[in-house]
Amino acid sequence: MRRPTSSPTGRAPAPRSEQLGFAGMPERLFVCTPSKLGAYADCPRRYRYSYVDRPAPPKGPPWAHNSLGASVHTALRSWFALPPERRVREALPGLLKGTWVREGYRDDDQERAVYRRALDWLESYVAGLDPEFEPLGVERVVAVKTAVLAFNGRADRIDARGGEVVIVDYKTGRTGLDADDARGSQALALYAYAAERVFRKPCRRVELHHLPTGTVAAHDHTEASIARQVSRAEDTARDIIEAEKAIAAGTDPDEAFPTTPGPMCGWCDFKRSCPVGAEVPNKDQWAGIDRTLTAPGS
Ligand code: SF4
Repeated sequence: MRRPTSSPTGRAPAPRSEQLGFAGMPERLFVCTPSKLGAYADCPRRYRYSYVDRPAPPKGPPWAHNSLGASVHTALRSWFALPPERRVREALPGLLKGTWVREGYRDDDQERAVYRRALDWLESYVAGLDPEFEPLGVERVVAVKTAVLAFNGRADRIDARGGEVVIVDYKTGRTGLDADDARGSQALALYAYAAERVFRKPCRRVELHHLPTGTVAAHDHTEASIARQVSRAEDTARDIIEAEKAIAAGTDPDEAFPTTPGPMCGWCDFKRSCPVGAEVPNKDQWAGIDRTLTAPGS
């Protein structure tokens, strides 16, 4: 369930009727993160299971690829927490072991193979980093309000480069990423929007750092392209608010939050609770890892 916490500032571009609730009280802002907005954009039913239904339906078992992603992200956070003189390749096994998440793997052999692969990725990645380099923020929460949203999100890394601020997002999935992925990411655009206001410096560049291939997919936003993404996020928030109001007014929750069947159903944490997902064959918890280990170039 959304937990609005604050009021709009009167900068609302929406019609007054949309901004005023009962008794002329202003609507509260829609509190959101990138994953909350993304969940609804992917599938309104999945959003309902995650954020509306209480108690929430049980989730499926943990995925190994999520364990891998979390392990690598935390190891990189630990790297930047070290003093520069200790940022050496030999520190990485200890950092990775210290943050390793064991859930979801098929067996110890697979887990060991993935650990070695992750260590390779990290060694290659930090070899390209200046040990003296200090990001502006590591797993830094940035927050901003718009006329509709109270947005907050945790950016993997925020860099300061030449008077500007850059958003960096680490990726550990199999697929190589390109500039279109960086350009199309609503999450990155929202981070940039928030970071520009938090740090009071221009923030237009967003980067996806793909650890398995050591590649960087980047996009330089304009003020207009970021504004478009913010506007889309606000539209999503309005749709969610309307769906929740419809339920309160008596609409069948299944109708207010319809299913969106697609390839992602096989990976959905709520597939066992969903009438569509229940028809989709189950995947092994390590199915995403099999793809990682067989990825070309990784
Ligand atoms: S299984 Fe598919 S349709 Fe059902 S909630 Fe998950 S993503 Fe949506």
